[in-house]
Amino acid sequence: MHDTAFDVTQQEYLKGFMAGVEARRGSLAPAGGGGGAPPDALRAAQDAAIAAGGTLTPQEQAKREKHPLDRWDEIATRAEAGTFPKPIDDFLGRFHGLFFVGPAQDAFMCRLRIPGGILSSHQADGIAAIAEDCAGGYADVTTRANLQLREIPATKGAEVVMRLGDLGLLPRGTGADNVRNITASPTAGIDPAELIDTRPILRALHHHILHTRDLFALPRKFNISVSGGGAVEVLQETNDISLTAVETDLGLRFRLTLGGISGHRDFARGTGAVVAPDEVVRVCDAILRVFIAEGDRTDRRKARLKYVLDRMGVEAFLGLVEARLGQPLERMAEEAIRPGAPPAKHGHVGVHAQRQPGLSYIGVVTPVGRLTAMQLRGLAEVARRFGSATLRLTVWQNLLISDIPEPHVPEALAAIAALGLTHEASALRGGLVACTGNAGCKFAASNTKRHAAQLADYLETRISIDAPINIHLTGCHHSCAQHYVADIGLLGAKVERGEDLLEGYDLHVGGGAGPEQKIGRMIVKGVAADELGPAVLALLTAWMAQRRQGESFQSF
Ligand code: SF4
Repeated sequence: MHDTAFDVTQQEYLKGFMAGVEARRGSLAPAGGGGGAPPDALRAAQDAAIAAGGTLTPQEQAKREKHPLDRWDEIATRAEAGTFPKPIDDFLGRFHGLFFVGPAQDAFMCRLRIPGGILSSHQADGIAAIAEDCAGGYADVTTRANLQLREIPATKGAEVVMRLGDLGLLPRGTGADNVRNITASPTAGIDPAELIDTRPILRALHHHILHTRDLFALPRKFNISVSGGGAVEVLQETNDISLTAVETDLGLRFRLTLGGISGHRDFARGTGAVVAPDEVVRVCDAILRVFIAEGDRTDRRKARLKYVLDRMGVEAFLGLVEARLGQPLERMAEEAIRPGAPPAKHGHVGVHAQRQPGLSYIGVVTPVGRLTAMQLRGLAEVARRFGSATLRLTVWQNLLISDIPEPHVPEALAAIAALGLTHEASALRGGLVACTGNAGCKFAASNTKRHAAQLADYLETRISIDAPINIHLTGCHHSCAQHYVADIGLLGAKVERGEDLLEGYDLHVGGGAGPEQKIGRMIVKGVAADELGPAVLALLTAWMAQRRQGESFQSF
C-alpha cells in the first residue's frame, strides 16, 4: 500500500516562497519601525478601523479580547462539562472547526480541511471511525471538495478535532473568518488534459496558511481555488482568489482573478496579472495580508474581498499587493495567453483513462453528497485494493478513486455497487447538488437534500435529457450550493398556501461556470416543494422542444 496523494517534491515551491520572504524582509520595514516583536496583524487592522472612527462588530470585539486560536482550552472545558457554546463562543470555536448547529440539531458539526480534496484510504478509514464513534455515522461531501461530520454531541467536540489532527487533518480555520478549504482540480497529476499538476502547490499553500498565525486575522471568510486544467470543473471563479492554469508565451502561468462570491452574484474579476507556479504561495500570502489590512471590521455584510475591490478598484488593490511583495506582479496581455481545454460537464462521473497509460479513475456518485461510515470505509478499501489508496473529493459533492489498472476496473465497479453506490448518473443526477438544508442548518428554508433526491426521482421517470444539466438546491441566500451558477438553481423560500407556510424555492435558470460562466436569473418566485417536480419538468420540456441545435440552457 502506498499513498500518492502528495508524493511530489515541494522544494521548488518552498524555494520560491522563501526567496519572497527574503525580498519582503529587505523591502518592507515592519510597522512601528525595526526591532522588537512584530505587530499582531489582527490587532493592527482593528486599531486602524477604530482610528478611522469605526465601531468593531461584536465578532471583531470578541477576537480582540483573546485570539480565537488561544481558546482551545475553552472548547476542551465545555466538552468535559457536556455543554454547547453560546453564540459568540460558537463563532470563536469555529476557528477550530467546530460549529454548534442548533436549533436545527442539538449538536456540533465539524468541517474538515482536505486541501484539493485529496485524502488517503487511511485517512478515510479514520474519518469513518470518528463518524461512528463521535458523530451521526455519516459524512457529507461539501461543495468545497471537503467533508463535514454532523450530530456530534457536546462531550465529543474536542475529541473529534483531536482525532482529525491525529490523522493529519486538523480542521483549524474551517469556519468563521478564515481561509477555507482550498479547492483544486481533483484530477491533478492524473488528467491527460491538465496543464500542471497542482498538488505540490496546494500542499505548500495549505501548510503556509495553517501554520501562519497572522493569516488567522481576516475580517471575513476567504476562498482560494487553483485549477490546473483538466476534465473536472472546479468553479474557481466563484472564489476570492481564483488561479487558473494557462499557457503563455513565457511558459505556464496561473491567471489571477479576484473577488468571486457567487452568492452575491459576482464572479472573480480579471486583474491582468499572471502568477508563476513557484510564486503562488507568496502572491496569495500578500493578497491575504492586504485583505487583512483593508477589509471592513465594522460591517460583516461588507467584509468580503469583493467589497474591498469595489471600494478601491482592482488596480489600487494590486498596488498594495505589489508593495507587500516588494516587486510588481507579472502582467500579461490577453493575446499572449492560451487557456487549456474546457472541462467536461459532468466529467466527475464515470470511468476515465488517466494520463498514465493503463490506469483509470472512477467518478463515484454520492447521493446528494452523503456517505455512511460503512460506504466511506468501503470506498477506502476499493481505493486501497484496486488503486493507490487515494480518494479525490470534488466540488460536485462526489469523489474519484484513481490509479486503477484497466483490467481491475470491472471488479472495482462491482465493489462500488456492492456499497450501494454507482459510477453512473443520468444527465439530471450527475450535476445534482444540495446544501445541508433545514435538517442540519438553521438558516435553511427547506429540506434541500430530501427535495433534491425527490426531484431527481420524479424527473428521471418522466423525461430523458440528452445533455448534462446542473441542478443546485440551496437552503438560503448564503448559497452554499451556488444556485446562481446552475442551469436550474433553486433557492430555499417559504411559500404561503392559504394560512400555511410551506417549504419551497425561488426558481432560477441560466447560470453557469467555466466556459458557460453566467449568473442565473430568477424566473418564478415561491414554488412549493410539492410543486417543484412539475415546475422543473415543464421547464426542461420547453427547453428540449424549443432549443435550437446545440443551444445550452444559458442562452435559452
Ligand atoms: Fe445552511 Fe444556507 Fe449554507 Fe444551506 S446555503 S447550508 S441553508 S447556510
